[in-house]
Amino acid sequence: MIREVALEQVGEGWSGLVNRFYDFLDVIDCAHNADRKPDLEVQVVEARLGMLRIVVTHEHPTVQEMLNKLANGIERYSVRVCEVCGGKGYRRKALPGFPNRCRTHYIELTNEMAESGEIEV
Ligand SMILES: [Zn+2]
Repeated sequence: MIREVALEQVGEGWSGLVNRFYDFLDVIDCAHNADRKPDLEVQVVEARLGMLRIVVTHEHPTVQEMLNKLANGIERYSVRVCEVCGGKGYRRKALPGFPNRCRTHYIELTNEMAESGEIEV
């Protein structure tokens, strides 16, 4: 998955985190592989239970381990970031899927879901 596609998978508020990850991948890719053979692939970028989940595979175990740690670090960090605006967010466990929202966007989403009948308030 290329950066542009990855950015489309999650809200604008998490684009900084996704870009940070891809910036890091670019550095690894350049340092490791001059002919840019695709030994590195991003499999998943998604919002899952209010967290940014990234799954990446690399053919070298050491690099794989490093990338897993980085992806886990970003996932933990995303717990505090609103998916919509990048402000201070919380996993909203009262809503289905635990969307990560700041106060303003939580209220907005709750109203939208209530009006469309997805939740009862
Ligand atoms: Zn927000």
